[in-house]
Amino acid sequence: MRCAALLLVLLATGASAGPPPRFALEPAERAYLDAKGPLRLCVDPAWPPLERIDASGRHVGIGADVMALLSARAGIELRLVPTSSWAESMAKAQARECDLISMATRTPEREAWFDFTEPYIEIPGVIVTRGDVHHVTDLVQVLDEPLGIMRGFSTVQTLREQYPGIRLVEVDSYREGFEKVQAGELFGMLGNMASIGHALQANGIVDLKVAGWAGDFTRPAIATRNDEPQLGRIFQRLVASLSPEERQPILNRRLAVRFDTGFDSRWFWSTTVPILIGLLVLLAWSVSLRRLNAKLRLANAKLAESSRRDPLTGLGNRMHLDEQLPARLHLCARNGLPLVVAMVDIDHFKNVNDRHGHPVGDGALRAMAAELRAAFRREDDLLVRYGGEEFVVLLTGGSIEEALAQLQAFRERIAGAMLDAAGVPLQLTVSIGVQAVRPSAGDTPEKLLQAADAALYVAKAEGRNRLVRAPRG
Ligand code: GH3
Ligand code: MG
Ligand code: MG
Repeated sequence: MRCAALLLVLLATGASAGPPPRFALEPAERAYLDAKGPLRLCVDPAWPPLERIDASGRHVGIGADVMALLSARAGIELRLVPTSSWAESMAKAQARECDLISMATRTPEREAWFDFTEPYIEIPGVIVTRGDVHHVTDLVQVLDEPLGIMRGFSTVQTLREQYPGIRLVEVDSYREGFEKVQAGELFGMLGNMASIGHALQANGIVDLKVAGWAGDFTRPAIATRNDEPQLGRIFQRLVASLSPEERQPILNRRLAVRFDTGFDSRWFWSTTVPILIGLLVLLAWSVSLRRLNAKLRLANAKLAESSRRDPLTGLGNRMHLDEQLPARLHLCARNGLPLVVAMVDIDHFKNVNDRHGHPVGDGALRAMAAELRAAFRREDDLLVRYGGEEFVVLLTGGSIEEALAQLQAFRERIAGAMLDAAGVPLQLTVSIGVQAVRPSAGDTPEKLLQAADAALYVAKAEGRNRLVRAPRG
């Protein structure tokens, strides 16, 4: 698990290889820093392994290593302002009792007080569940379940904005979250992979598992007081001067295996030695590995994307619909929003093939797809080639009346247009069957599609080139 964590963080930060940009303070900056004296630093005192204040009052972790490296580079003296919680650090920083924060995520609210550098690491978000839960590939799948999250973290707000209605339960420690997951009070606990991995191990938890990626990346940056913008400029340049070769040893050191208490030789030889060997190999190959993995990720992303796309028209395919419809249905049902499923079928399409040949038929399908794209262009509009000359249009986010009017307009537009089918002008019409509902708990993707299909059947039987809405029920 930790090995995986390490790998991921390295990959995520390895985007820009090459020599570090040189760093030099300008005379005015030097004078400003000299006049100011030591910079007061606020940190998260309890966010291992990213950073914390240890028993002897020292700032340790990735944030501490990065701050030490940067302050040495610029000849800046830092003075730690001790606090006992992140909330206290935030409050002190807002009261200008510190000049900078070592690890803070940029949010619009925080920008009222601080300037932010670029993030200097990225760590993926994960969800921890009980062992018997299936793999989670997207947070959307578990939105109606109670999910634990650390109180006061910026992710609380970003997740709420991204997924309105998400059932977040704020907890004061990962341990509390894990215990609630074990007790069945929470479905899962969210967090960044490094902290979650550390907390699972520190609490000796073996019956929970990381069930998948969930939520956003954690991207800590250095926050500086924005009433002294020189500071922000200096630290932005300092962060930009960090090379991957400098970041990597820090991450390796802080995320590698460590013995916290005691020593179990059996465990050492069976678990730690292989992991350490793996780490060494990993280190040796990290540069080429990073490149290789970047390529792999790109290839995988392309593959995943192409497996959901219909090659002829470029629209989504049935697999894409099978993934999207349940999630959207779920969201609409939970938030009382309307969902419109339309089946659009070209009338007498067989004649096109019979008269002009298959390639012209293909051209007509492409032209129809282009018309659909032009007519339904909102980000959430989902367009799918469902079968041969049959398309599904899934509309969410607006009213039912709007959606029906838009579909009618599309039908009329097609009936009045001349499509260019691989160079052959064609006049086509479409029949449309629609199921438009505010879904309730009893609605399933299959039922919605069946209802739209039945309405399409009626539209064909009534003479084609028309839209029929399915009765509710
Ligand atoms: P209706 O108005 O009842 O829908 O009549 P129709 O002719 O459109 O429907 P039918 O289901 O009888 O025929 C559909 C035709 O679509 C048959 C098939 O040859 C054609 N078709 C399906 N997929 C493709 C394709 O990828 N390319 C081409 N050129 N034709 C296709
Ligand atoms: Mg047809
Ligand atoms: Mg058909």
